Amino acid sequence: MKLVFATNNQHKLQEIKQLLGDSIELLSLNDIHCTDEIPENQETLEGNAAEKSFFIFNKYGLNCFADDTGLEIEALNGEPGVYSARYAGEEKSSEKNMNLVLEKLDKIKNRKARFRTVISLVIDGHETQFEGIVNGQILEEKRGITGFGYDPVFQPEESNLSFAEIPMDEKNKISHRGRAVQKLVEYLIQLKTE
Ligand code: IMP
Repeated sequence: MKLVFATNNQHKLQEIKQLLGDSIELLSLNDIHCTDEIPENQETLEGNAAEKSFFIFNKYGLNCFADDTGLEIEALNGEPGVYSARYAGEEKSSEKNMNLVLEKLDKIKNRKARFRTVISLVIDGHETQFEGIVNGQILEEKRGITGFGYDPVFQPEESNLSFAEIPMDEKNKISHRGRAVQKLVEYLIQLKTE
């Protein structure tokens, strides 16, 4: 089966290719010569993931999946959520985003937060969604240098280290995206054997 992953993020692509094995031919947006700005105009992770996967399915007629992720902070009523990438502005600066989070949580005791990923899979026009969550807390200051986004300020409950201090393969085992991808892969493998 051919399946498009609506991303050009090579890191995400390789990660999923490894999990899927050879049974499914995974194509990136580059592979299908898609240079469109894919719309992400919804107010939920579910809505954005679906908007992206249906955009590809409708335009190219190819089975497809897309993901969307947000950091949800309890004391901030779930912010930054769907606005995680551009929380501190359109330039999408991770440093500025983290600084804004630390500022907003200054003197706030409740540091509970979670990362949530939603994957939307569209096969023959029929959609299935998969969710992955990692619970944790926002640290008082940035720690570690690996990873990306909010990794230095997020500590998963499975560890005493921040995501930016955990090696990538370890992070993938417990991360929101890793968990959502695992569910997607199980579904695809089962579909293939039916
Ligand atoms: P996306 O939907 O995967 O592009 O994620 C949206 C935003 O959430 C990113 O721009 C990051 O700021 C943040 N984010 C997503 N996944 C992670 C992660 O694993 N660690 C830290 N930040 C993340």
